[in-house]
Amino acid sequence: MRVVKSIKVLRKLLRKEKLSNHKIGFVPTMGSLHEGHLSLIRNCRRENEISILSIFINPKQFVKGDDFSSYPREEKKDIFLAKKENIDIIFFPTNKEMYSDGHSTVINVEKLSTVLCGKYRPGHFQGVTTVVGKLLNIIEPDTLYLGQKDAQQAIILKKMIDDLNWPVKVNICPTVREKNGLAMSSRNQYLSDNEKKEASILFRSLKEAKHTILSGQRDSKKIIQSIRNLITKNSSAKIQYIECVNADTLEKLTILKGKVMIALAVHLGRARLIDNIQIAVK
Ligand code: AMP
Repeated sequence: MRVVKSIKVLRKLLRKEKLSNHKIGFVPTMGSLHEGHLSLIRNCRRENEISILSIFINPKQFVKGDDFSSYPREEKKDIFLAKKENIDIIFFPTNKEMYSDGHSTVINVEKLSTVLCGKYRPGHFQGVTTVVGKLLNIIEPDTLYLGQKDAQQAIILKKMIDDLNWPVKVNICPTVREKNGLAMSSRNQYLSDNEKKEASILFRSLKEAKHTILSGQRDSKKIIQSIRNLITKNSSAKIQYIECVNADTLEKLTILKGKVMIALAVHLGRARLIDNIQIAVK
């Protein structure tokens, strides 16, 4: 396994692999690896000759009030875990390597970036698309691996790839959860044991909503209210949003039909947590 910090060195290494027609898979992360990241890495390893993991805490996707300075940084442990998974290359750039002085070009996916989390974190998705766009240009992978946990991010990145004609396949991998249902996240480290227990209500309430919809309920307002009630009754979480949207377009749904996604964001203790569930409704 190679740990590479320089774009130039990475490109040189990859040129050889491309000349040998090796399939390249790419997993972008911000590190502090957990089983969710590892599931992406395992899919990537299975489907490609060369697997690249990037670890970069991208300052441009943190907005005012976010946790950039306290975001967990676990370089040694991450390298150990990636090695165990037989990753070929870890790309670990510095801020300076990624953003030269005076960097001024951004990628912005309109509309999709302004709803759900985008409404509350303006500029966040522009930071994500800009950094992933740069990484795609540097690595030129065949397949990009993303997690369903960040469903809006995956939809936006797919749209960017499509709109900008990048020849990259996108593989969206299922959300990996703790035993109690809490979606794994590097930010779960901010939670106390008790808050982790409380946070299990997020997925429980989404599952219950799914059950209610599959039993015939089609009114999004009623579904949202029932999730809200469950969360407030069972935890100290402060709800930022709960929305029922079309799972492809992210458009709000009044009547639930087609590919439905229920997405939510809450603040619990020091952490901002997101989760979602998809339901095919006839
Ligand atoms: P992050 O390091 O949080 O930026 O995440 C890097 C990638 O891992 C993104 O594509 C995430 O959607 C994905 N990911 C994060 N948590 C999970 C999880 N619990 N299950 C599956 N994928 C995840």
